[in-house]
Amino acid sequence: MKPDRFKSTCSYCGVGCGVVVSRDSKGKIKVEGDATHPVNQGMLCSKGMNLHYVVEDKSDRLTSPQMRWGKGHDLVDTDWDTALDRAAAVFKSLIEKYGPNSVGFYVSGQCLTEEYYLINKLAKGFIKTNNIDTNSRLCMSSAVMGYQLTLGEDVVPVSYEDIELADCFLVTGANPAWCHPIIWRRVEKHKELNPDIKVIVVDPRKTQTCQLADLHLQIIPGTDVILYHAIGRCLIERGAVDIGFINGHTDGFEAYKQEVMKTSLEDASELCGVKITDIQLAATYIEDAKGFLTMWAMGLNQSADGVDKNLALIDLNLITGHIGKPGSGPFSLTGQPNAMGGREVGGMATMLSSHRKLADPKHRQEVAAYWGVDHVPSEPGLTATQMIEALESGKMKAVWVICTNPLVSLPDSNRVENALKNAKFVIVQDISSKASVIPYADLVLPAAGWSEKEGTMTNSERRISYLNKIADAPGMALPDAEIILRFAKKMGYNGFEYDSMGDVFREHCQLTKGTNIDISGLDYDILKTKGTVQWPYVSEGQSPVKRLFEDGKFYTPNQKAQIKVCASKASNEPVSPDFPLILTTGRIRDQWHTMTRTGKVNKLNQHIPKPYLEIHPIDAEARGVKENDTVIVQGHRGKVKVPAKITTDIRQGVVFLPMHWGKTFGSDFSRTNNLTGNTIDPISKQPDFKYSAVQVDKF
Ligand code: SF4
Repeated sequence: MKPDRFKSTCSYCGVGCGVVVSRDSKGKIKVEGDATHPVNQGMLCSKGMNLHYVVEDKSDRLTSPQMRWGKGHDLVDTDWDTALDRAAAVFKSLIEKYGPNSVGFYVSGQCLTEEYYLINKLAKGFIKTNNIDTNSRLCMSSAVMGYQLTLGEDVVPVSYEDIELADCFLVTGANPAWCHPIIWRRVEKHKELNPDIKVIVVDPRKTQTCQLADLHLQIIPGTDVILYHAIGRCLIERGAVDIGFINGHTDGFEAYKQEVMKTSLEDASELCGVKITDIQLAATYIEDAKGFLTMWAMGLNQSADGVDKNLALIDLNLITGHIGKPGSGPFSLTGQPNAMGGREVGGMATMLSSHRKLADPKHRQEVAAYWGVDHVPSEPGLTATQMIEALESGKMKAVWVICTNPLVSLPDSNRVENALKNAKFVIVQDISSKASVIPYADLVLPAAGWSEKEGTMTNSERRISYLNKIADAPGMALPDAEIILRFAKKMGYNGFEYDSMGDVFREHCQLTKGTNIDISGLDYDILKTKGTVQWPYVSEGQSPVKRLFEDGKFYTPNQKAQIKVCASKASNEPVSPDFPLILTTGRIRDQWHTMTRTGKVNKLNQHIPKPYLEIHPIDAEARGVKENDTVIVQGHRGKVKVPAKITTDIRQGVVFLPMHWGKTFGSDFSRTNNLTGNTIDPISKQPDFKYSAVQVDKF
């Protein structure tokens, strides 16, 4: 590769497409798909194709630290030393007065692995708080628990290569045609070449993904467990389960069988709103498959019973023995580009580095010894929504927000706003001066963006890639890792002296030694030579581990996978005569999260320029609502004003809002999360964005 052409990875979703970044003769940045990359083979989706605009357009970038000298004062520019002296002075004083749990960090699945690693080390090892959580809590913590409880560890057992080896796909709670487009292009191509393969899509909406479906099960929201159990029941009744695999490699089948037999197909059909013949057809497709892949995303995870939904789905792979075999396995589609890297470094309030368990004293001691500290606190930290509660109640005093906008992405936006107002000290570390959280900040720290720093990310299939620094950050903006390192020194902590980011990565890799995600054989040089590597990677020259559990041995204490019985009732927010409709939220094709980057690309804004409410014609007619009428969507916590889009693609009784718009990009009323609530899954603590009771009225 010429010295002015750099390989990198797209910074948007967890698919992890490879890109080649170069400059043309006029010095303009050009981004192309990397034709040699194993994930995308040169393909890019609309977001990836427009990455160069994000690099070039610095018009909204934060270029200097800013500080308020007191609440109510204006933000004023300052220098890094003054800003970080202030941050350290405030943190030290709060920790001394109220204890280490009075502060916390709320970070992002878009942070690079090295950044994640350092923030965790700083919080858990040195400040002595586990109050470090991430917006990944909002997208995949239910999948983490689903994997842990069934397979013994948070591991994605498959690779993208399994797509071309599968002959039945069950895609549920996901719209990969829009949200994981390059994965979906591979499924489409596979079906084009092999028309007999079957695609089952489960979704209350007829999404773009359904265009490829042989069977669309337009489920009533919240009834997923009942549906998967009904499919499981069909498979058991037909003898279409793998008894050899069940007896040799799993526990729990008899209890599962008893549970699924409790609900007749007639009852399940009624409860899910899916025809019995369609449930039976789904079972037939699975029964006939040699390779069976389940794929899911937020539709399952963002739920009051997100973990149960994961368990009931993974159970279908386990009872049919479709795991550890070509084209088979449960495949959680990661939303963010480095949610996986965050999981690997233990980047959440309930986790510890390298998939070690926070509750295990031996694991805590291993990590503490490695970091050269006396202990890591045992008590789980506050998760994303718990931090908001704690800021609101005053239990937590200060929060440091890195690379995410809680005012748009967290549920119950009005509560988030109150919590930030109530906090004693808020630090916002971001790239954009337009982030709507900035007015609540006491200290604003300008960060370098994608391509302005080096580091690594892990995609949905355990593939680690190295990201080159290609351009300089504007003004005084610094890489997030550099900001954390400077802050650690201001706090007086020893243990943050590194010559390079490569040293930080090496430290993380060595901490994985002996674990199931061992990457102790890896370093930047190997990544730069090989391009990307899937974990585990214990030694140089090791063959890629495409698929886990091929030997039938799982990561549980007895090496057997656990077929889990789960209750089929969720504590969803009840609908009522006042709020009779179920609101579900999600992404659109060309926007990413809170639109900090995609929102400033004209080409991407043209696809869907403003928010809208999808509503079924019968529900619209009952309210006198016509196409494009402005409607007020009212819920228990707030309201939203948007134009109506009337479509039979959504179930009657259900309405849909895209998640992206916040105050910055529209009126106060367009913020979708004014309506979502604080119901969380009791195990994963993931908030429910898919089931809020609302009413819709013509404005
Ligand atoms: Fe980027 Fe995801 Fe699109 Fe690939 S599929 S180009 S990673 S946004």
